Amino acid sequence: MIWNPNKECMSRDERAALQSKRLRLLVKYVYHNVPFYRNKMQTMDIRPDDIRTIEDITKLPFTTKQDLRDNYPFGLQAAPQSEIVRIHASSGTTGKATIVGYTRKDIGVWSESFSRCLAAFGVNRDDIFSVAYGYGLFTGGLGAHYGVENLGATVLPASTGNTEKHLRLISDLGVTGIACTPSYALYLADTMDKIGIRKEDLKLRVGAFGAEPWTEHMRQEIESRLGLKAYNIYGLSEITGPGVSYECEMQHGSHISEDHFFPELINPDTLEPVADGEVGELVFTTLSKEGMPLLRYRTKDLTTLDHTPCQCGRTNVRMGRILGRSDDMLIIRGINVFPSQIESVILSLKEVAPQYLIIVDRKGVLDTIKVQVELRPEYFVDDYPAMERQKKMLADKLRSVLSISAQVELLPPGSIERSDGKSKHVIDNRHIE
Ligand code: ADP
Ligand code: ZN
Repeated sequence: MIWNPNKECMSRDERAALQSKRLRLLVKYVYHNVPFYRNKMQTMDIRPDDIRTIEDITKLPFTTKQDLRDNYPFGLQAAPQSEIVRIHASSGTTGKATIVGYTRKDIGVWSESFSRCLAAFGVNRDDIFSVAYGYGLFTGGLGAHYGVENLGATVLPASTGNTEKHLRLISDLGVTGIACTPSYALYLADTMDKIGIRKEDLKLRVGAFGAEPWTEHMRQEIESRLGLKAYNIYGLSEITGPGVSYECEMQHGSHISEDHFFPELINPDTLEPVADGEVGELVFTTLSKEGMPLLRYRTKDLTTLDHTPCQCGRTNVRMGRILGRSDDMLIIRGINVFPSQIESVILSLKEVAPQYLIIVDRKGVLDTIKVQVELRPEYFVDDYPAMERQKKMLADKLRSVLSISAQVELLPPGSIERSDGKSKHVIDNRHIE
């Protein structure tokens, strides 16, 4: 189902007109209400009247995470405090948390955006939908919660933790949908095995997974172990939270709600736009936000864009999977390595579980990389030559994908710590010298 055909299926010209109108208002609004933007624009010799169409967006300054930190906590807020009805903080995966304030209208736009995602996943008013993102400062829990209520389905505010009790409720209440991180979905599957709940005992049919990178292999694993259809959902607190983009039934990229969150894709070094199909850094402008609107916010997320029409009938642009963050790329012995490359190798092997840890060290002047993986119970055998063969096979595969050699450590099932939120996959010990 399409939640808001007026906005999701409008012609590209109509949408560009709407985006242009919203951009003009936004630029005036931040110019008059946020000294940071006024100063930046004055330094660049740009006046609000110079911005007439959405194409003029490239004249505007970028905003970075550092700008948010420098203006912590309320420096970039445009609305008066009396209009702010909620504050969230980003999870701080890459440093100090950033604070985002929302007006009542912002919460409405966010809820509506999340409802668009749910409708695209086939969720309807008859569904009982469990939200197992963390509730609290993290945008995942409350963002999804309001989206489910706005759609009119029944929300079960499970949050994270208490996994066994949560699974019993999923079973007893006949919960049909769930939103959580993909790693928590796998943790749920592990717990089901442990306490003896089979997917056939559950009514789960749809899952909205996001907040961290995941792969097609992981999708297959989640679908087969939980017995549901798994959809990708993307968002970030600076822009709104979960619900910025969502897959449709074609599952060929994620549609961005670009009437609210205008995307650009740039080369992170030259800051020039990159063409559809090429990898670049995603940049968002919040076209309708009041609380903390952002101009050209650099997400650091690397992906591709596709402006061609989608068979589902939606006309909004699609983004590919997040291939990594431009700042989580590891440079090992001069070679660029993305954790997602290692993950895709691990997930393509039936012998190992999807949990893994990448440990980077420096011995003398040489960088070393070690990949710890868990064997699946059925492949964990007391047979040294067999284990050595497994290890060599994984090491060979990693070398062919990464172009450098990585040490492999095979661990018994269950040894790597599970996460109920975003999982941490990389430990870089090189800076502690
Ligand atoms: P933090 O930047 O502190 O992790 P957020 O909690 O706002 O803050 O997380 C947003 C980030 O999470 C995004 O910028 C992106 O890197 C990642 N993310 C969110 N959804 C997805 C997804 N579906 N696939 C890959 N990465 C995602
Ligand atoms: Zn589509």
